[in-house]
This record gives sequence, structure tokens and C-alpha cells, in this order.
Amino acid sequence: MITQIKGLHHVTSLASDPQQNNDFFTQILGLRRVKKTVNFDRPDVYHLYYGDEIGTPGGVMTYFPFPDKARGRAGTGEVGITAFAVAEGALDYWQPRLEGLGLDNIVREQHFGESRLRFQGPDGETLALVEVPDDARATWSGSDVRDDAAIRGLHSVVLNLSALEATADLMGMMGYELAGREGDHLRFALPDSNGAGIVDLHHMPDSNPSREGAGSVHHVAFAVVDRTEQLSVRGDLVEAGYEVTEVRDRNYFWAIYFRTPGGVLFEVATDEPGFTSDEDVAHLGEALKLPAQHAHLREKLEKSLLPITG
Ligand code: ZN
Repeated sequence: MITQIKGLHHVTSLASDPQQNNDFFTQILGLRRVKKTVNFDRPDVYHLYYGDEIGTPGGVMTYFPFPDKARGRAGTGEVGITAFAVAEGALDYWQPRLEGLGLDNIVREQHFGESRLRFQGPDGETLALVEVPDDARATWSGSDVRDDAAIRGLHSVVLNLSALEATADLMGMMGYELAGREGDHLRFALPDSNGAGIVDLHHMPDSNPSREGAGSVHHVAFAVVDRTEQLSVRGDLVEAGYEVTEVRDRNYFWAIYFRTPGGVLFEVATDEPGFTSDEDVAHLGEALKLPAQHAHLREKLEKSLLPITG
């Protein structure tokens, strides 16, 4: 069994308008933009990272904004809900805040005994805030969100699946334990996590496969401490029959990717070296950062990428 996974590292989704995406995550949800770079495989597209002050793994939400992208269609084989943790009592702050901004489909509900506020982001993606007691993770204090209600990091992802068994087996292999059943959901949790230790599997046998587009989650990344542990995880996955990519240098972490049985793309990413490796903490996310292989494109990209203010 794999023992090196610490929880989620980040979730990466597709967006349409980069300015709208930036404003939603920084001004409405109160996260910090910790990196403004490009998709390393498609350098004409931004890669925007949001998180706490330093982009601590387990609390990072990232987007590839394609300005003319059509909306995705929800369905199976994808992440259905990306949830963030907030302190107990914080939903009484968030619900009127989000309602006042006119967000779509705001629902307050109980899910596995936790209070959850579900809502839609600017591209129709389903997001949620979940009240968690005693989450000691740091928050970003640079927004106007009340300090005691600020997002503390990722809480979980919900995977929409046409069948659960193979993905349930994979979660077990990755060190997760079955923590509960509720209706058509199974909850898997890591016994000892970075705070983002939950994955829910949602059984949707009668639904159509999802179609990727703006608002779709592209992949979900799990955290390991370093490259040594990553190689060990890679070896175990390959041995179990998964087709896993070679290790890719993403500047702020090292990444491997594999497609899970239910269709969701998983990544395993290192906590090292982190988002402060090429910018001071005080100025994280301000400048357009390009990896070495795309540095020669700077002049062209600074003209072609839509400017983002704020
Ligand atoms: Zn990723």
C-alpha cells in the first residue's frame, strides 16, 4: 500500500475569462493569487494559482483560463464538487455574503454530518465551503473576508462516477480508509493528512459522461513530500497496472499523472520546492512568471495574454 500521500495538493480546473476567475477567487472567496504563470504545455494560456499566503499544498486551487471556452457539461468521470474548509460557524458569514453577490444555486446542507454551503463559480463549477472544527491551517489575511471565516485550505473533492468499485480500490491503495456511506456517496479519508484528506465517491450510474469545458475540473493532485516519495508512489502505481507519466518539472512542484478507472485524471505532486522558489512572499503572484523553456516567448505572451488587474 502507498503510505506517502498526505492529502490533496491542488485542484486544477478550466475557466473562460481570466479576469473574472481572478476576481472571484481573490475578491469573493478571499484567497491570494500566489502565482501567475502559463500552462507549461500550452504557453499561450495562463495558469493561475490561488491559495493561502504562500500557496501551501493542500490549499491550492488553480485554473487554466481559455477566454472563448464553451462551458463543460456535468456528468460522470470528473470532479463534481471542490470543497474548501472553513471554521465552525463561518457559514453564517458566507451564506449572506454569497447571496448578496447573486451567486447561483446556493444550497446549505448537511453532508456526512458536516455543514456545507454549495454554490456555483463564474463558469458554473460547483464549489463548496465546509465547516470543520479545529482546522489549524493558516489563512490569507490580505482580503476583506473576516479573519475567523477565511478559507483554511481544501477540504475534499467529490468524484462523480458511473461505478465505484475500481476507484474505491484505488483510494484504499493510496492509503485512504472508508470513513462512511451516505446515500449514493462513499467517503474516503486519510488517517493522518495535511488537512485536505477527504475524497468522496458519488455513484451516478444513470448519468452521462461529462464533457470537458469551462468550469470543469481538469485534474486533482495529491501531495507527497518530495521526489523520492513521488518515485516510490510512481513505482507502486505502475506495478498495480496504472499508466503513469514520467516525472514533469512544474517549477513549483514535480508532477506525475495517471487516469483513474472512473475517468478522473489524478496527479501526484511534491510539496517541494513551492511557490516562493522564484518570488518573494511579499510579491507572490504579481509578475508573469515563465518557466525557462518558455522564457523566449515573454514579449509575445505579454501582448497576447489578456491583462489581469488586481
Ligand atoms: Zn496539477
